[in-house]
Amino acid sequence: NVRTRFAPSPTGFLHLGGARTALFSWAFARHHGGTFILRVEDTDVERSTPEAVQAIIDGMQWLELSHDEGPFYQMQRMDRYREVVAQMLAAGTAYYCYSSPQEIEAMRELARAEGRKPRYDGTWRPEPGKTLPEVPADRKPVVRFKNPVDGDVTWNDMVKGPISFSNGELDDLIIARPDGTPTYNFCVVVDDWDMKISHVIRGDDHVNNTPRQINILTALGAALPEYGHVPMILGPDGEKLSKRHGAVSVMQYDDQGYLPEAMVNYLARLGWSHGDDEIFSRDQLVDWFDTRSLSKSAAQWDPKKLNWVNAHYIKASSNDDLAARVTPRIAKRGGKTDGVNLAAIMGLLKERAETLEQLADDAMLFCGEFDASATPPELISQHLTDATRPILQDFAAQAAQIEWTRENIQGLMKPLLAKHGVKMPLLGIPLRVAVTGRAQTPAIDAVLELLGKEVVLERLHRI
Ligand code: GLU
Repeated sequence: NVRTRFAPSPTGFLHLGGARTALFSWAFARHHGGTFILRVEDTDVERSTPEAVQAIIDGMQWLELSHDEGPFYQMQRMDRYREVVAQMLAAGTAYYCYSSPQEIEAMRELARAEGRKPRYDGTWRPEPGKTLPEVPADRKPVVRFKNPVDGDVTWNDMVKGPISFSNGELDDLIIARPDGTPTYNFCVVVDDWDMKISHVIRGDDHVNNTPRQINILTALGAALPEYGHVPMILGPDGEKLSKRHGAVSVMQYDDQGYLPEAMVNYLARLGWSHGDDEIFSRDQLVDWFDTRSLSKSAAQWDPKKLNWVNAHYIKASSNDDLAARVTPRIAKRGGKTDGVNLAAIMGLLKERAETLEQLADDAMLFCGEFDASATPPELISQHLTDATRPILQDFAAQAAQIEWTRENIQGLMKPLLAKHGVKMPLLGIPLRVAVTGRAQTPAIDAVLELLGKEVVLERLHRI
């Protein structure tokens, strides 16, 4: 029974690395018909905020990574962690340590002086036949895990293959602080145990935590999950992906006009592959997902490729769907969508758009207020000349007579060019400038059709 979890620390927003980890855990659970759990690791009370929790939930909703259980909040499970600490103390797999901060610092100093890794010297670690020091008055102890001294901790990582740590490198980890609050690794262990997590997929910045967590789970008599540590995402320059490289919050990509399905597709390919497939649906991802195809090396963020994927999903969207998605973006620009055939406009524009924002910008040609006086003067002086005005006027006169379809508009043009002895640019560009205030637009006959006869004639009469 496959059970995976996404366990974000809510200290900001859902960032790309987190979203990708969530996506892999989700896809793995879905592939196996398992359960995907959302667990909020909010024990860092200084840095965790309800807004950040909401931002993570929003981000997952946007990507449609639905969880089956949770969200569970670690802050609401404190009693349970304390209970397990007590159990371990009773079982002798954990012990009270009364060493003072000064004593601990002295151990560190000594280790530094002797050139070895600092570690707890075991003063309070109970051993058979050993007499412990007298408990100092007025000192609150920490609780330490009694880490095995010999042997290795080994696991076969789903991504990285066999990994081994010598127990000699691992300290007796503090699992509860003097005030009784549990520490990070301990909460993770109790949660993974209680939530019966079968597969832990997470960033490889957690590799060093895994042997400690395995040791504690083993001491608890818990079944061990499989672990898979996913390499991080690098920026285009090969450095760890960060704000320097642009947006790192998933929801900023929503703002910038990326489609969630494109984002899922792109994120999945960052560190996972299925042959040469670049474009696949959410269902195909679930169908195909396996951890063997997760890459062992770091993935590189590639904004150009993301744009390419997004452009693909825009082209593949229905015109009505795009119209619905772009409507609020047009409104934000002060444009109007009633009385315009926005779906048809999307049909015209979507072939060239990489983002919904770009679609909205382009759609303003049809939805925005037209202000002829805002046309750049150099466009007017270059294209609305004594040579081109008569052609435009002739065009307007003939256009007034026709039924307003793209074919009919196109039908006017050839004879008109022949009559005036000019080539298409001398009609097409002046028309664009007169009617849109720009020298470049999509196909002019389509633009004219979508603007509507009345609007076109009115603007042509003003030149
Ligand atoms: N809360 C950790 C993080 O956000 C994840 C811990 C885990 O997946 O075990 O990096």
